[in-house]
Amino acid sequence: MIDHRRLGRELDLFDSDPLAGAGLPLWLPAGAAARHAVEEYVRDLERRAGYQHVYTPPLGRRELFERSGHLGYFAEDMFPPMRLSANDEFLLRPALCPHHALVYRARGRSYRELPLRIAELGGMYRAERSGVLGGLSRVRAISLNDAHNFCALEQVGEEVGEILRLIREAHAALGVRPAGFRLSLRGPGQKYVGDDAGWARAEELLRAALDGVEFTEAPGEAAFYGPKIDIQVRDAAGREFTLSTVQLDFDKPERFDLSYTDAGGARRRPVMVHRSLVGSMERLFAYLIEVHEGAFPAWYAPVQLVVLPVGDEQAGAAARLARDALASGLRAEVDSGGSLGSRVRDAARRRVPYVGVVGAREAAEGRVSLRLRGGRALDPMPTPQALRLIADAARAHGGRPVGPAPRG
Ligand SMILES: [Zn+2]
Repeated sequence: MIDHRRLGRELDLFDSDPLAGAGLPLWLPAGAAARHAVEEYVRDLERRAGYQHVYTPPLGRRELFERSGHLGYFAEDMFPPMRLSANDEFLLRPALCPHHALVYRARGRSYRELPLRIAELGGMYRAERSGVLGGLSRVRAISLNDAHNFCALEQVGEEVGEILRLIREAHAALGVRPAGFRLSLRGPGQKYVGDDAGWARAEELLRAALDGVEFTEAPGEAAFYGPKIDIQVRDAAGREFTLSTVQLDFDKPERFDLSYTDAGGARRRPVMVHRSLVGSMERLFAYLIEVHEGAFPAWYAPVQLVVLPVGDEQAGAAARLARDALASGLRAEVDSGGSLGSRVRDAARRRVPYVGVVGAREAAEGRVSLRLRGGRALDPMPTPQALRLIADAARAHGGRPVGPAPRG
């Protein structure tokens, strides 16, 4: 059975150490390289869709989380407060929304700025019990792809539709295969903020956004402040979990007294749409490692090209090729130890999408023989052409596990 924890170890993607603590994974260089590529892609996708990125700290004063409602409704999932002095307590944040509400109200807002889309790939913390922690799928330190879109009520429908479009685009690029859409609603026996009218209106807006989409309803899965659309995926063991989400919130704008000036000069309350295109980096990678069996699409493969000199005489040509690959923005390295066969097998074990073999003839002619992941070998080609081929595949942001392989 495919398990991201075993593959993560084999591929040197991440590790954990009891000395650091359970649920606090360490991203090793290979995992960090893949994550970095995904983060850059998502940030660029958001920027082109009109998002503005911010940085906010992963902790804040107790009063901030009293105001946001997290202490009243979410405290059991939070780490206990850290006390600096008698009336100065800090909490690790369990969500980014409180800080983003403060970003919104950092200055006066006009209707012309709406929808105002504030995005951050930020850290947050959940006090998960040690029994439920495992690999990257349940962690205590979470790096969330998050945004809060502040809109006028009449903009919400279109905004949610646009978010769903972005989610589909990101899923296609990453190779995510959704298991289904879910409308998460209030349920019995839990605490929720807000009035019935607000919940009904939010639910109606989300149902309208889901028009034409097949979805299930999940009572009791709403956030404490509002209903949400969750996009579910399944891990290799068949367990379902939420990857992407869109949530409507009428409550935090009240709590933080958020407003904008409308066209007539009147003060109005915005709606806060919480959304995550791809969830947390931890959960996303737990899923991606399993769905691709470690063979990531070329654009976020930790190493895209391994150059293998056949013998010591080709060391110089191999180093030049790797250097050119790095200079052109690819992730490349040279492997020169051991027999050629064992190095080819090692590259295959690491799921490297492109292996460049440089023998005496290739070195003399400025060429390289590319082998693609999966075993296909291309005829020797000039090294600039090989680098272009790999760069094109990496730029394509396709979700196919094996990168496209046009014949040079
Ligand atoms: Zn939020």
